[in-house]
Amino acid sequence: MQDKIWLSSPHLSGKELLYIQEAFEKNWVTSIGENLDGFEQDLKECLSNNHEVVALNSATSAIHLALVMLNVGKHDEVLTSTFSFVASANPITYRGATPVFIDSEKETWNMCPKALLEAIEDRIQKGRKPKAIIVVHLYGMPAKMDEINEIAAKYEIPVIEDAAEALGSTYKNKACGTLGRFGILSFNGNKIITTSGGGALVCPTKEDKNKAIFLSTQARDNAPHYQHSHIGYNYRMSNIIAGIGRGQMEVLPNRVNARRKMHEFYVELFSEINGVEVFSESTSDYYSNHWLSAITIDTSITGKSREELRLEFLENNIESRPLWKPMHLQPIFADAPYYGEKVAEELFDKGLCLPSGSNLSDNDRERIAKVIKNFFS
Ligand SMILES: *Cc1c(COP(=O)(O)O)cnc(C)c1O
Repeated sequence: MQDKIWLSSPHLSGKELLYIQEAFEKNWVTSIGENLDGFEQDLKECLSNNHEVVALNSATSAIHLALVMLNVGKHDEVLTSTFSFVASANPITYRGATPVFIDSEKETWNMCPKALLEAIEDRIQKGRKPKAIIVVHLYGMPAKMDEINEIAAKYEIPVIEDAAEALGSTYKNKACGTLGRFGILSFNGNKIITTSGGGALVCPTKEDKNKAIFLSTQARDNAPHYQHSHIGYNYRMSNIIAGIGRGQMEVLPNRVNARRKMHEFYVELFSEINGVEVFSESTSDYYSNHWLSAITIDTSITGKSREELRLEFLENNIESRPLWKPMHLQPIFADAPYYGEKVAEELFDKGLCLPSGSNLSDNDRERIAKVIKNFFS
C-alpha cells in the first residue's frame, strides 16, 4: 500500500523547536512569556496592525469568550451559518443560548444576506431580537461581509467572524478576522498553520484584549489574595505552544501560496472534466487562502456521485471528505430555528473536499490526478 495522502496535515517549518527550546532554557514553561507576546505580535502584524490578538487554547474557546464579552446569556438567540463545522455553534449552547441557523448563498457558500435579513426580521417580530451573529468564512472563502455588516449595523447586532479556516484570506483587501466586532482564528492540527491545538480572539481595542486575557485566566480581581467577582475560564494559550505558532508564522505566506497552488492544480485538472466545478473566488473582492480545495459534482452530467469518488480515493489510500453537513440537519440541533432554502443541503449532497495540504508532493499530485482521471473517464 502506498503512503496515505491526507486532506490537510501539519506542515512544520523547522523553526518551531528553536522557540520552544528558548522557552525551556529561560524556564518560561508557563502561560506567560516571550513566545506568547511574539506570536500575538506576529498575528497582529499579519492581520492589520489595527487589531489586538489574544492567543487562546482553541478557536472554540475564543468563540465562547466572544459570546461572554457580548453578554450573550440564557434565553438569548445567536444567528450563525448552518454550513460549518460544529464548533461555530456549540459555544452558543455553552451560554444557555439558542443557535438560529442561516442558509448559504451559492457564490461564496457562506451566510446568505437575504436569509439573514429574513431571520432577523422574523425573530424581532417574535420578540426575540438576536444578540449576535457568527459568520463563517468556509474553507478560507470570505463571506459577503459588506452586505452582512450592513444588515448587522442596521439592527445593531454585533458580528463575530469565525475565521478559523481563513487566516491569510482577505475581503476587499482586508484580512478576514478583522471585519467584525470580534474575529476568531484556529491553529488546530489540520488548519493552514498549526500549534498542535490553539486559537485566537481578534479584537479592535487594547481594552477588549485586557478583558479577554482577564476572563481567559480565571478572572482574578486586582488583590494580593485570590478574589473573584466574575466567572472566569482557563483558556489562555501556553508559552510553549505559542513557540510552535511563532515558527509557523515565519512561513504563513508560503503556506497560503502552496494551498492556492493546490487549488490551481484542481482547476486545471477539472477544466477537462464536464459536470465538476472547483470552488473558486467569484470576483477579485475575494482572496481565499484555499485552506481546503472543494468540488461539486453534477451527477446528472457525470453519472457519478461524490460518495463514489470518496470511496475511490479511499481505495487508493487518499483521504477526501464530504462538505460540512449543515447544522440544522444535525441531531443535536434538531429543534433550532432555520432560515433559508436548500443551498447548504445541496452543497452537502454534491460536494467533496480534496487533499489540500501545503506539504503534498509532485508524486502525491500525480496519484490524485490519476484517480480523478480514471474515475471520470
Ligand atoms: C476548526 C474550526 C473551529 C474550531 O477550532 P478549534 O481551534 O479546533 O477549536 C471553529 N470553526 C470553524 C469553522 C473551524 O473550521
